[in-house]
Amino acid sequence: MIEFRDVNKKYPNGFEALKQINLTIEQGEFVAIIGLSGAGKSTLIRTINRMHDITGGTLTVNGTDVMTLQGKNLRSFRRNIGMIFQSFNLITRTTVIKNVLTAFVPELPWWRAAFGIFTKEEKLAALEALDKVGILDKAFVRADQLSGGQQQRVALARTLAQDPKIILADEPVASLDPVTAKQVMDDFLRINRDMKITVLLNIHHVDLALQYASRVVGIRAGEIVYDGPADQVDQEVLDSIYQAGRKEAV
Ligand code: ADP
Repeated sequence: MIEFRDVNKKYPNGFEALKQINLTIEQGEFVAIIGLSGAGKSTLIRTINRMHDITGGTLTVNGTDVMTLQGKNLRSFRRNIGMIFQSFNLITRTTVIKNVLTAFVPELPWWRAAFGIFTKEEKLAALEALDKVGILDKAFVRADQLSGGQQQRVALARTLAQDPKIILADEPVASLDPVTAKQVMDDFLRINRDMKITVLLNIHHVDLALQYASRVVGIRAGEIVYDGPADQVDQEVLDSIYQAGRKEAV
């Protein structure tokens, strides 16, 4: 369970990106965060794995106050939380399988990481993760030979190899064409349903958010202005999130 209680986030320049956020997400939910560019969607997602520190309130993940974590504890906490970015963040000049194997690097002794020595179990886990996102046949292809959608699947496989409980995704389909974007969203949905992994993603395509997520959180200027079922998001709700006449491209 992810629990925000009166959470605030003020950046060092004084800008208040999150204001009094109260939000509880149960294990296994599929939640989309929507809102205008600059509303605070990315900031919200990144506080959960401490890419950004909150500056007020409390944020707990499965009972752990994330702000108390440091060093080794923070690293093992992050292992349970996969992170997917818009830009895939792959090592493009190497093979797909090596990219997936990097999931294990934070846990390895330095000499194994330095020489890229992985166990049979780790290699099997990496191949299994690739199979789960339907690109096992690309295991030994260089990452930069793949399409955008396939590269995002490699990123997803790398995350799955960590055996996460939660996947956070920051605009995961923003740089993909509409057809590929749907395929990647299908992967998120399958992973969420089959593996009971919590999926929390930012998405500026409202239609995809409503189609795939079961719950939608609407943010406007750092505040939650809607939190409810995706099928109850009507025009009035959208206007309250995006303010009439200023809707983002759908
Ligand atoms: P979104 O993901 O909804 O587009 P962000 O969470 O990226 O919004 O940003 C929310 C607000 O915080 C924006 O106004 C942005 O300019 C500001 N912001 C983001 N990062 C920083 C930072 N490092 N320092 C100061 N302001 C920031």
